[in-house]
Amino acid sequence: MPVYTAPLDNIRFVLHDVLKAETLSALPGYEEVSKDLIDQILEEGAKICEEVLFPLNQTGDAEGCTFENGVVRTPQGFKDAYTLFAGGGWCGLAADPQYGGMGMPATLNCVLQEMICSANMSFGMYPGLSEGAYNALFLHGTQEQKDTYLPNLVSGEWSGTMCLTEPQCGTDLGLIKTKAVPNDDGSFSITGTKIFISAGEHDLTGNIIHLVLAKLPDAPEGVKGISLFVVPKFLPKEEGGAFKPGARNGVSCGSIEHKMGIRASATCVINLDQAKGWLVGEKHKGMRAMFTMMNAARLGVGMQGLGIAEVAYQNGLAYARERLQMRALDGPKAPDKPADPIIVHPDVRRMLLTGKAVTEGCRALSYWVGMALDRAEKHADPAEREAAEELVSLMIPVLKAYQTDMGFEIANLTVQIYGGHGYIREHGVEQYVRDSRIAMLYEGTNGIQALDLVGRKMTAHMGRYLRHFFHPVGDFIESGMADPQMQEFVVPLAKAYSKLQQATATIAQKGLKDPNEAGAASVDYLRMFALVSLGYMWCLMAKTAQEKLAAGADGRAAFYESKIHTARFFFEKLLPEADARFKAITAGGKTLMALEAANF
Ligand SMILES: Cc1cc2nc3c(=O)[nH]c(=O)nc-3n(C[C@H](O)[C@H](O)[C@H](O)COP(=O)(O)OP(=O)(O)OC[C@H]3O[C@@H](n4cnc5c(N)ncnc54)[C@H](O)[C@@H]3O)c2cc1C
Repeated sequence: MPVYTAPLDNIRFVLHDVLKAETLSALPGYEEVSKDLIDQILEEGAKICEEVLFPLNQTGDAEGCTFENGVVRTPQGFKDAYTLFAGGGWCGLAADPQYGGMGMPATLNCVLQEMICSANMSFGMYPGLSEGAYNALFLHGTQEQKDTYLPNLVSGEWSGTMCLTEPQCGTDLGLIKTKAVPNDDGSFSITGTKIFISAGEHDLTGNIIHLVLAKLPDAPEGVKGISLFVVPKFLPKEEGGAFKPGARNGVSCGSIEHKMGIRASATCVINLDQAKGWLVGEKHKGMRAMFTMMNAARLGVGMQGLGIAEVAYQNGLAYARERLQMRALDGPKAPDKPADPIIVHPDVRRMLLTGKAVTEGCRALSYWVGMALDRAEKHADPAEREAAEELVSLMIPVLKAYQTDMGFEIANLTVQIYGGHGYIREHGVEQYVRDSRIAMLYEGTNGIQALDLVGRKMTAHMGRYLRHFFHPVGDFIESGMADPQMQEFVVPLAKAYSKLQQATATIAQKGLKDPNEAGAASVDYLRMFALVSLGYMWCLMAKTAQEKLAAGADGRAAFYESKIHTARFFFEKLLPEADARFKAITAGGKTLMALEAANF
């Protein structure tokens, strides 16, 4: 049986010691966010994840969702767990108090998402999709739409979906065929088929609110002709000042998918048959509306990668401490036992330390970006808001792609640590490989994230977004060079950082002449960017740990020494990948493009 304990010690280290998350209380609206309040929320969140969601993870996977006569049922225990989760206010942790939310920072929401995804990624899909629908309506809905839907989404009584994908279009949303025809009363009749719709139909809530991309009859071709609509499963009717589910709308579930992973998350074909819907935002501007909420959604998927990496690492570690096989190369370490625990072997240690360094590095990166998201939303100074928003926009594709790649990688390493037992269902770790795989695909495949980074974010305003990252890292390197204790970390970071800048210039120059050159370099560039980002995070963590040790460590010397050691591992064993990626980038894209498709 797998295990999961929310890593509160590590979470607190990053939030309080490294990033000083309590400074969020300086932002208007977050005045109440003290260290104590953060800790209290973390502890309660950890409890529900460990005690309610985690025990349903394996059973939910084994049972999966079922579909019968248009009705979708989630696995046993999910409804009760959802009721408890929603009753605790967790659906609205970061939602506006005006609509019943707790009004907590996005940073804290990141932490909650991480713990939910470690405990039960499938379960997390339901409130996760509701949050996407909440954001779309909160940012772009009319006041009437907000009053109708938001309180019910925040309380968790209703849930939400995002209906983009159709059989002929996934990445290329310009190919959407779903039609929206205006009615006389200001509503629209929406007809079409959406596929792969997460939480499209289920038995957890009294209503499901679909956010649907469709085209009006006068729509221009391509992505410029897409509009966003809100289409409820049951039309809301007002009762005593609140909205309840009314008449059934023309939305139905045609079938559910049988999937590799996240089997307790219902992935539905949604048929819209003259369903009544209302325009959200301006007509033909649906893609713009989607883009403004994409940062939060992609950050959420990045947290899935981190969540799975964490739980997989925890299980790999527990197993490596217990499983006895062979003796250590330099002589027995547990002579009283028939063999040594496998944690003595260098290769097992390589896998475990990779899991530890990547997971802890990604945690720092996620919360760092989460705090920038909070500044982007709440800072009193518009210039600060803009700078933070640009930093978030730059980092989101890096975070989404790297963390989901690594979620899969660490899950895979855990199977390797378990040996053949990892391949056996009962142990529960092969589920992490299957569950994590989807995060590399949805919310824009990781290849598309890389294109977003080199095509949009790198080039925006003549490289202005990049400067929001390069400048603080450059400044840190400069000051860190003067600190002899930090040399072993800052010197390799400085080298990788300088190569990242060279790679940026190379791609910018070559990409101007030939866009295939930028496309060919994009995935290597994103990985290099992520490694430098993690290097920066590991420098910040190592420096904090050194300061704590110098101040006496308060009985936690082993914890801080372990941080410094893991930083050392990252710089010696993981960061060198940036050199290989740099070589691949500078080799150019000719070999990718020269072979005729027929000759592959
Ligand atoms: C379990 C699950 C849940 C999902 N949930 C939802 C949901 O809730 N709502 C929703 O709307 N959708 C959802 N999706 C759909 C998901 O977002 C899409 O599958 C995804 O965007 C990719 O689209 P596609 O599958 O059509 O692949 P395609 O777009 O056909 O892409 C195939 C391959 O080509 C590559 N590619 C395409 N274009 C380019 C390019 N220009 N340059 C380089 N490479 C390119 C892609 O990276 C990919 O590797 C879900 C899918 C699954 C499997």
